[in-house]
Amino acid sequence: MSEAEWIDLAACGRQYQEVQADVCVIGAGAAGIYLTKQMVEQGRSVILLEAGPSKCTEGGTIGFDVLSEGAPYPGAAAGRFFGMGGSTSRWGGALVPHTQHDLRTGSASNDVWAHIVNAVSARAPQVLRQLGYCDAINFDGDADRLLGPTCRALVTGGLRVQAALYLPFRFRNLVTLLHKTSHPAAAPRVFFNAVAKAWTLEAGRAGEARVDKVVAVSRNHNELTVRAGKYVVTAGAIESARILLEIDESASQRVFRPTAAIGCYLADHLSVPIADVTPGTRGRAAALFSPRFSGAWTRSFRFLDGSPALDAPRAFAHFIFSGSSRGFDVAREVLGAWQARRMPSLTAASVAAGLGDLVRLGYCRFINSALYIPAGTPAHLQLDMEQVAVRDNCVSLTSQRDAYGRLQASIRWQVTDIDMAQIETSAHIFLAKWPGASAGLPQLQPRIIGTDGTKPYSAYHPVGTCRMGDDAEAVVDRHLKVWGVRNLWVSSTGVLPSAGTANPTFTMLCLTQDLAEHFRAVS
Ligand SMILES: Cc1cc2nc3c(=O)[nH]c(=O)nc-3n(C[C@H](O)[C@H](O)[C@H](O)COP(=O)(O)OP(=O)(O)OC[C@H]3O[C@@H](n4cnc5c(N)ncnc54)[C@H](O)[C@@H]3O)c2cc1C
Repeated sequence: MSEAEWIDLAACGRQYQEVQADVCVIGAGAAGIYLTKQMVEQGRSVILLEAGPSKCTEGGTIGFDVLSEGAPYPGAAAGRFFGMGGSTSRWGGALVPHTQHDLRTGSASNDVWAHIVNAVSARAPQVLRQLGYCDAINFDGDADRLLGPTCRALVTGGLRVQAALYLPFRFRNLVTLLHKTSHPAAAPRVFFNAVAKAWTLEAGRAGEARVDKVVAVSRNHNELTVRAGKYVVTAGAIESARILLEIDESASQRVFRPTAAIGCYLADHLSVPIADVTPGTRGRAAALFSPRFSGAWTRSFRFLDGSPALDAPRAFAHFIFSGSSRGFDVAREVLGAWQARRMPSLTAASVAAGLGDLVRLGYCRFINSALYIPAGTPAHLQLDMEQVAVRDNCVSLTSQRDAYGRLQASIRWQVTDIDMAQIETSAHIFLAKWPGASAGLPQLQPRIIGTDGTKPYSAYHPVGTCRMGDDAEAVVDRHLKVWGVRNLWVSSTGVLPSAGTANPTFTMLCLTQDLAEHFRAVS
């Protein structure tokens, strides 16, 4: 077992002027860390470049602000973190696969979705094992096992039920994957405070370009040149697109396909509350649908339309229990701090005030294997629906320079009238299929969509900016290789054509595993 070598580029002066490796990975979030681990286990030398510090921070603190054209895209300002672990330092840890429910024979991207769904199905067991989950899993079957007749009533009504899996807090920040690698010789070299900035490409074989080197810089202008056989950009959906746009901007002639829609079709899940659980059935909602523990892992339930129209937007619904308690706040602060690798911010008084609830939380956790939800806690049904892909919703480069001398990115993103109409239709379908109190389920009181408190917001699941496909606008192929460059790949939620019926990270990890297997097969 070997530890990664951690190097702070800001602190190492000119010591590291030029390094070489088999693979250079750019960005130490979920995708970059996962891929680094896989590459090391294949015995390859890896250099991982991370723009942020060893402990994650907001983009603004290290000069990664994004300009907005129109209303700001919340996923850029509040939905991403920079440093070791990337956004997994703050994420919810929900692992849910995209599945056959994502296929829509009426949509142009159906072939690509079929490829993605197959890759997820093939790679899910390996990914779960890597993340530390060793039991058999069946996302639909487990919902049936855990919910019994309730699940069957929902299926009879026309819905499908999945039991999403949540990582334990101690594994949520995927930086833990780097702490030990099982290959005895190949420890990855991890440079943090190292922003990939300047790329040099040369003409390659068969009309394709080839990346020769990338230069990373720290805020205090230390520089590192990396030469590698393979370069994989894992910088998140927005920054990965920005990097490709920078390469395009700096090349003397276009290296990507002339029609590649780099940065375009930025989309997200739109999240909106669609119905409240009536006060008289709140207890029933908590008893049936509160998250369940399986050891340190958690399962929670979500609902999909069982028979969507051929071109229906992909969506899922789930309950949100919105009450809080002092004990819950204490637990959340401690666990969140553990995930973000910081000290919890608590006073003796807040801990003392929360003690009673903490005991109830512990009792419910260890005796009932469920999350304690106090009686009468308000709950609502939340719809997460994919946005329609609009070319004008995009990441582009401005002429302004940031603290590293890079062109700053700008984002144009809006919720369209089509999105709003589709939310209303989807909400109506879900609520019409909800069996209700006669089947022993909580009663739902529909909300009026679009009024205050029911405005959709971004779920921090950016997709579409480096879209996978075979068509002229596609940015990467089905092996995540950038069209037009023979040794450059992108692994990010940005390769997904739309947000689909699931949170995107598990699918991204399955595609990353698929890429690692592809590398193993070809060299
Ligand atoms: C509050 C919250 C909750 C979420 N909950 C869930 C959930 O439950 N389930 C789920 O599936 N998804 C969830 N997500 C989304 C999830 O966090 C992301 O999909 C996932 O973390 C993306 O991983 P990534 O590796 O692609 O990108 P990131 O996590 O953004 O990592 C990219 C890394 O690249 C680095 N980087 C950027 N540019 C450069 C550069 N030029 N040079 C070097 N390094 C660079 C960044 O510093 C960053 O560390 C949530 C997100 C948030 C914000």
